[in-house]
Amino acid sequence: MILSTHAVVGGAIASLFPSHPVLVAVAAFASHFAIDAIPHWDYPLRAITFKPGANNRRLLADPRLFFDLALIGFDACAGLLIAIWLFVTPATIGVIVLGALAGMTPDPLQVVYKVLPKQPLTTLQRFHRWTHAKRRLSWPLGISSQALFAASVSWIVLTVG
Ligand SMILES: [Zn+2]
Repeated sequence: MILSTHAVVGGAIASLFPSHPVLVAVAAFASHFAIDAIPHWDYPLRAITFKPGANNRRLLADPRLFFDLALIGFDACAGLLIAIWLFVTPATIGVIVLGALAGMTPDPLQVVYKVLPKQPLTTLQRFHRWTHAKRRLSWPLGISSQALFAASVSWIVLTVG
């Protein structure tokens, strides 16, 4: 899923139990793998590749990395702002931001793994690939279904929570 979806779900989880930040961090981090298992669409990156065996040693020297990082940064900021807009109260801003960030964290850790393929990142990367949906949806369906999913989770949490 794109980072915005992960941020909204992480923020939603945080709003359920805002006085338990450790539980929020763990649950939001774990939610990443659960919702990545749903077939979806991810935007293509130019320099970074997550295929096993791909050589990313020269990644830091690749000028296309700037484009990738700008896109990832925009996605992450948009998700963070949406999560804040939906769930923050004056008392919960810190924990909502924590939940949103923890929900997104497994994806930047994939980039760290590509540059630094060491434990425990190797195991985490294997687990991430294993949980990630193998079926890829085409982009209009794959992105609208994500938006609908994030909206549904938000709606449930805002009405029930
Ligand atoms: Zn992921």
